[in-house]
Amino acid sequence: MNDAQNEYSMPVHVPTRTGIGYDSHRFAPGGPLILGGVAIPVDEHLKGHSDGDAIAHAVTDAILGAVAAGDIGQMFADTDPANAGRDSIEMLRAAVARVRDRGWGVAQVDVTVVAERPRILPYRELMVSRLALALEVDEQDVSVKGKTNEGMGWIGRGEGLACMAVATLVRLSTDQGKTDASRG
Ligand SMILES: [Zn+2]
Repeated sequence: MNDAQNEYSMPVHVPTRTGIGYDSHRFAPGGPLILGGVAIPVDEHLKGHSDGDAIAHAVTDAILGAVAAGDIGQMFADTDPANAGRDSIEMLRAAVARVRDRGWGVAQVDVTVVAERPRILPYRELMVSRLALALEVDEQDVSVKGKTNEGMGWIGRGEGLACMAVATLVRLSTDQGKTDASRG
């Protein structure tokens, strides 16, 4: 091993972008409750035009926001009957495809769910797995955390839940061919 190999060198500059997403939904009677692509077996659900998956919606907005590619409401209008009861993981995949078309790939996502119920921990692993698949990243690049609101406000009263997400995107290499081809 020569000296040159032992020296640190400047990293290859990889452009990155960071986006934030927020979503909230009200609880309504009748389960299951869809969150992070997982059907949680409880007797209430998240009210929404789609399946109400607030994690998927927050992550979708974070990804779109990172590259200023609009938001979930623009991509999937809640006035469009085609979006009624829609699988939000499918919407997330569409957002991943949209940013990929612009030459960006998801590197990492971090999510916080603020809710008095349901408990996130028992479903966390499955949520991470579902999200990672949709995001085309390793499971180690997806984080889902649950917090209560310490009984305060509308979340504390159990009226609904909120999610926050941060996504980091990296510029895809044009060497991979796929990026340029899909950008036409
Ligand atoms: Zn939503």
